[in-house]
Amino acid sequence: MSEMTNVAEIFGQDVFNDTVMQQRLPKKVYKELKRMIEEGIELDLDTADVIAHEMKEWAIEKGATHYTHWFQPLTGVTAEKHDSFISAPMENGKVLMSFSGKELIKGEPDASSFPSGGLRATFEARGYTAWDCTSPAFIRHDAAGATLCIPTAFCSYTGEALDQKTPLLRSMQAINEQSLRLIRLFGNTTSRKVTPSVGVEQEYFLVDKKKFLQRKDLIYTGHTLFGAMPPKGQELDDHYFGTIRQRIAAYMKDVNEELWTVGVTSKTQHNEVAPAQHELAPIYAPCNVALDHNHIIMQTLKRVARRHDLKCILHEKPFAGVNGSGKHNNWSLTTDDGINLLDPGKKPHENTRFQLVLACILKAVDEHAALLRESAANPGNDHRLGANEAPPAIISVFLGEQLEDVLDQVIRKGEATHSLKGSVLETGVDTIPDFIKDTADRNRTSPFAFTGNKFEFRMVGSSDSVSAPNVILNTIVAEAFSEACDELEKAENFDEAVHQLIKKYVKEHQRIIFSGNGYADAWVEEAERRGLPNIRSMVEAIEALTTEKTITLFEKFHVFTEAELRSRAEIKYESYSKAINIEARTMYDMTSKQIIPAIINYTKTLADAVNAVTAAGVGASVQKDHLIEVSSLLKDTADALKVLVEVMEKASAMDSGKDQAFYYKDAVVPAMNALRTPVDKLEMIVDKEVWPMPSYGDLMFEV
Ligand code: ADP
Ligand code: MG
Repeated sequence: MSEMTNVAEIFGQDVFNDTVMQQRLPKKVYKELKRMIEEGIELDLDTADVIAHEMKEWAIEKGATHYTHWFQPLTGVTAEKHDSFISAPMENGKVLMSFSGKELIKGEPDASSFPSGGLRATFEARGYTAWDCTSPAFIRHDAAGATLCIPTAFCSYTGEALDQKTPLLRSMQAINEQSLRLIRLFGNTTSRKVTPSVGVEQEYFLVDKKKFLQRKDLIYTGHTLFGAMPPKGQELDDHYFGTIRQRIAAYMKDVNEELWTVGVTSKTQHNEVAPAQHELAPIYAPCNVALDHNHIIMQTLKRVARRHDLKCILHEKPFAGVNGSGKHNNWSLTTDDGINLLDPGKKPHENTRFQLVLACILKAVDEHAALLRESAANPGNDHRLGANEAPPAIISVFLGEQLEDVLDQVIRKGEATHSLKGSVLETGVDTIPDFIKDTADRNRTSPFAFTGNKFEFRMVGSSDSVSAPNVILNTIVAEAFSEACDELEKAENFDEAVHQLIKKYVKEHQRIIFSGNGYADAWVEEAERRGLPNIRSMVEAIEALTTEKTITLFEKFHVFTEAELRSRAEIKYESYSKAINIEARTMYDMTSKQIIPAIINYTKTLADAVNAVTAAGVGASVQKDHLIEVSSLLKDTADALKVLVEVMEKASAMDSGKDQAFYYKDAVVPAMNALRTPVDKLEMIVDKEVWPMPSYGDLMFEV
């Protein structure tokens, strides 16, 4: 693309969006499709045929040769199977390009090798992908040429969800129904639909591709398993919001342009806290679209990096000792006529509907804190949550001074009578205008923070799908709304009843509100006194998926069946074990094939030096001491490696499932840490030329 980018012109040019549909589809068909998107009515096959045909014509004009049902199985990444548009050759030996309504609506990928957690016995290995018409189809350009990507949901023959998308769509229905009930109570008769809006901030690291490829840990596990800290880390805070380097700027320009063409509203970009760390955020969208777009963003970040001889690292903890990466999930509820149910307005004390929504969210988050925590659990995030950087593993809610004060009045007086005003920020510089400060200051340590007109869930890992967190937010809030509506719909005096209910909820769940420093040890103790769960690891978090409370919740709102929940728990235990096993094997490989041989050679060089210097009649005590230290760390390394091998063997011999996952956490991970310690010490003291891989410094500071 040229120097000058006309954003308005390229935006959405590769998306089969409303404008394109309106232009290309016969009026009647367009109307039917809109009804399907907005009201969920089913399409008849004739209409689907017309849509498929137009979609194909449009895609071919854009250079597409293939289409794919793009779906999100439980592997954590997206999957696709490509079909070309060609049909069987005709008698004259030519082919036609065809795409039928049936092919648009339904696909049958060979599903047997996607994880199903026992849901799908092999004899019914079939899985179906079904078109999600609420997320627009788009064209992706890459080495394979141009491909029409059709967002789909992935289900088993018997209708069980095998993906991240289906439960999200189900949870959107649940929150829609319950939100409509709630707003009707307040006299709203005009809104027809309530949709969760989600904006996902995505953090990532960029490193030089050549250096990346010299590290097996990065290649196989996406993060470093060894590595001594360089002389400089992030202590100067000079990277955060710092000027973006030219090489990175060129990369970001390409990323933005690619995202814009497929209709992703890439909006903000900046350097993050750690060296080589950056962030990208699009403008918020309906949560299923935001989910798809986040996947597109992750894929685009990776693909464009290759073109710039960079590697994009999405892992939660690429480097020990500096900040890891997360994903902030901004969430609110929007009606089709533009009302944000999380907007407190200028006078929150008068906004009873907002107060009820807020009280319900507090209740939901408090009652299902463990489940929310689980939704952010993945192996990479175990390095962040609870360690001193990301939000702690304890769920709490930050509201800010103004709302806390309103709720405080509710508890004391039954009703709030005033709202604190934001104060004026005076800079003391005449040429800079004073302005009103936000009423909620940012508390960066809170895992679940109210930020003006939305909640920001900050626990999610950078590589993870945002499906689970939003499935849970939508469903737990739907439950709280539903319970509130059950009460209020039968109340004789609504006004009185609603204030009483708000007070009751706030009183019962105020323990979840916390505005202090979430990173402090004092908070861990305080949270324990309050009875808030502190779940420190992924494997401990998983059981929240299958408690009575969770099963009742999800079955009530038809989001997950018990079988689906159990299968998801199974898959998570298994995927944890697999991830740690790969990491342990990679450590073994690097230690035995690269590190130990390098150090053995190095000790020989040192021994030769000792001999030569001694033979020359000079004291060699420094050389000797160094040799002793290196040899002793080499011995520690070999010993630790032996222990690691033992526990790895034991772990692999176990049946997969919960016990195995716990064994990986309790035995294999500590053995990995024990191996890392002497190796990192060695890296600090041996000749840089000898070390068999690029250092942290090389990776983070020489991009
Ligand atoms: P910050 O880093 O200051 O939190 P960013 O601009 O990086 O803010 O990202 C905030 C994200 O929240 C963006 O994706 C933005 O579109 C999204 N957002 C803003 N308002 C809402 C809302 N009402 N509901 C959901 N997401 C929102
Ligand atoms: Mg941000």
